[in-house]
Amino acid sequence: MSISSNVEKTKRRIAEAAAKVNRSPNEVALVAATKNRDTNQIKEVIEAGISIIGENKVQEARKKIAFLGRNREKWHFIGHLQTNKAKIAVEL
Ligand SMILES: *Cc1c(COP(=O)(O)O)cnc(C)c1O
Repeated sequence: MSISSNVEKTKRRIAEAAAKVNRSPNEVALVAATKNRDTNQIKEVIEAGISIIGENKVQEARKKIAFLGRNREKWHFIGHLQTNKAKIAVEL
């Protein structure tokens, strides 16, 4: 399945789950976990309407952010963070 159809499917599932509990789907943040994904795939997910990118390796995030720049998407750090990497994560 393509990235954009996965995004659509996921957004639909969020909308259905939110509707069941009378909440707005806008209250749910959809984060694309992009570890082990290349920059073309990240571009594709951003173009499909994902606005939050989740990386959990500082070195990988640094390279990807440098390559893709910072545009309309936000970068989140997800998962376990080693103490010695915290400063870099904050800077990024
Ligand atoms: C990788 C990761 C995910 C997504 O897991 P997948 O198996 O790639 O779908 C979710 N949360 C965290 C913290 C992750 O590192």
